[in-house]
Amino acid sequence: MGLFSRSGSEDSTATEPAATVVKTDDEWRAQLNPAEYQVLRKAGTERPFTGEYTDTTTTGVYRCRACNAELFRSDSKFESHCGWPSFFTPLAGESVIERVDSSMGMRRVEVLCATCHSHLGHVFEGEGYGTPTDLRYCINSVSLALEPETS
Ligand SMILES: [Zn+2]
Repeated sequence: MGLFSRSGSEDSTATEPAATVVKTDDEWRAQLNPAEYQVLRKAGTERPFTGEYTDTTTTGVYRCRACNAELFRSDSKFESHCGWPSFFTPLAGESVIERVDSSMGMRRVEVLCATCHSHLGHVFEGEGYGTPTDLRYCINSVSLALEPETS
C-alpha cells in the first residue's frame, strides 16, 4: 500500500481529508469563468486537444486554478498524445485526492484537488507509457494554472 496503490480506493471517501478552501457554489461561480466552473465544480471534461497546456513543455509548477494550491510539476509531465495534459505523479501525494468514479458505466478514478476538492481529471494505470509510475494523471488544462519557473 504505497502512494501509487489503487487498491483501497473504494473506501477512501470516508477518510479523505477535508477541504481547507471551502466556498459556496455562488462564490465559485463568481470566481471562475463558465468553462472553469463546469470542469472544476461540475466534474466536466474539456474537449481533447483544446486545452492550453496539452503540449506545453514550459518548466514550472501547475497550480489549482480554483485555490492556487501546487498540484503538479512540469518535470512529471509527459507526452501521452491523449489530448490532455498528462503527468505521471502529482507534486506530492497529499496534494490530490483520488476517488473512485463509477459514472458513465465504467470504473475510473477521479482526481481532485486536496485543498478545495475541485475536480481536476482522472488517473489511469497500466497503459504502458514509459514513465516511472505507469500512471497517467489525465488533467484538464482549465483546472490548472502554470506558474513558469524564473531562474
Ligand atoms: Zn484547489
